[in-house]
Amino acid sequence: MSPSQDLLARSRAAVWHPCTQMQRHETLPIIPIIRGEGSWLYGEQGVRYLDAVSSWWVNLFGHNEPRIKAAISRQMDQLEHVILAGFTHRPVVELSERLGALSGLGHAFYGSDGASATEIALKMSFHYWRNQGQPEKTRFVHLENSYHGETVGALAVTDIPLFRQTYAPLLIEGLSVPCPDNRHTTAERDAKQLAEQAAQAVERLFAAQHQQIAAMIVEPLVQGAAGMAMYHPHYLQRVRELCDRYQVLLIADEIAVGFGRTGRFFAHQHAEITPDFLCLSKGITGGYLPLSVVLTTDAVYDAFYDPDVTRGFLHSHSYTGNPLACAAALAVLDIFEQDQVLQCNAQKAVAFTQQLQGLCDLPWVTHFRHCGMIWAFDVVCERNDFALAFFREMLQHECLVRPIGKTVYFMPPYCTTEADITHFYHATRASLTAVCGNQTTPSHITSDLKMA
Ligand SMILES: *Cc1c(COP(=O)(O)O)cnc(C)c1O
Repeated sequence: MSPSQDLLARSRAAVWHPCTQMQRHETLPIIPIIRGEGSWLYGEQGVRYLDAVSSWWVNLFGHNEPRIKAAISRQMDQLEHVILAGFTHRPVVELSERLGALSGLGHAFYGSDGASATEIALKMSFHYWRNQGQPEKTRFVHLENSYHGETVGALAVTDIPLFRQTYAPLLIEGLSVPCPDNRHTTAERDAKQLAEQAAQAVERLFAAQHQQIAAMIVEPLVQGAAGMAMYHPHYLQRVRELCDRYQVLLIADEIAVGFGRTGRFFAHQHAEITPDFLCLSKGITGGYLPLSVVLTTDAVYDAFYDPDVTRGFLHSHSYTGNPLACAAALAVLDIFEQDQVLQCNAQKAVAFTQQLQGLCDLPWVTHFRHCGMIWAFDVVCERNDFALAFFREMLQHECLVRPIGKTVYFMPPYCTTEADITHFYHATRASLTAVCGNQTTPSHITSDLKMA
């Protein structure tokens, strides 16, 4: 047995891989990765893959980033971890101050992953109203096709049937509102009008039930796990107004879209609003260490500040505010400044879009869309196994992609070059042709649809 086959067999035997029907790996090989460099992952015998999903949306500046490594290493020589209840340390204080300055939300509560940030925001918003003498505000509003994590509380506000259905009997019942997905625009109804209509549905719900509603949770601008569904910032402006008018707290889940992914540092900044809670994780450490944070307002913080212990937020995770993770996050913020990341990305995005738009002449490509450093399109293909077939085909072309159903997206590390994009472009063309090519082109696909 080669070392790689050996590792594969041992992984199958001992590692229960995430989001996976393990039996599939009887036929689908698990891929060992040995090292990473920039946008590329390297396996054995020289195989390599362009990391077009930023290692599940966490990597910002590429693999093996020297400045993040050095920051973690420096911190490791000082202090690897300390309890954050009753103790503090420089990295957590500095990170909280800097995130506060960037977001206008000056109080930072830490967790270790995205789902725990969602849990914190849900519990905190409910507890806020309880402390304000409104304990009947217990319900949460979420969008159709939302994704906020998969622990039992977060899953209650997640609307992806595949993740949710099995566990439905365990979940508190959320309130769902329509998503103003830009793919539903028509000649009579542009993206902003669509956003307005969706906001009116929120208004009707709030008018009827606001006395029971603690908070509304949104993924600003791009619903990632829904398949990169994008919507107009007008929706966020209207939701902010409605939350103020009806006394509902607004939770912005920027676990996927924060840290420059949409072109602004935070996605909600496109709408020039401030949420009551901002959940961050994934890119926060550049993809180096698990860390999440919920940022919130003075008003929320003050509602918990009291001699009574039970009015405090009695929630904790063992690795809360881990110094190594905070040091990585501080290095990430430094890189944003040193490298003028947002400006560089804006320039890159123009070139990338120009190139990737070329895919629209393929008969299977529809709804090509783009926001910041995210590109996506839907594939019109009869094959039920499209996602898996395309994933496998793209591996042959040295690209790591994970289609969501029939949506293909490209969400690369920011260090990705034009040469990498060209590689991705040709790989995608070839793979789509290989996977979808033997079917006849559906006649209802017209060229104007493709650019929606
Ligand atoms: C990934 C994600 C989460 C969950 O984060 P985990 O670290 O995987 O628990 C929550 N919300 C959004 C929008 C995400 O993309």
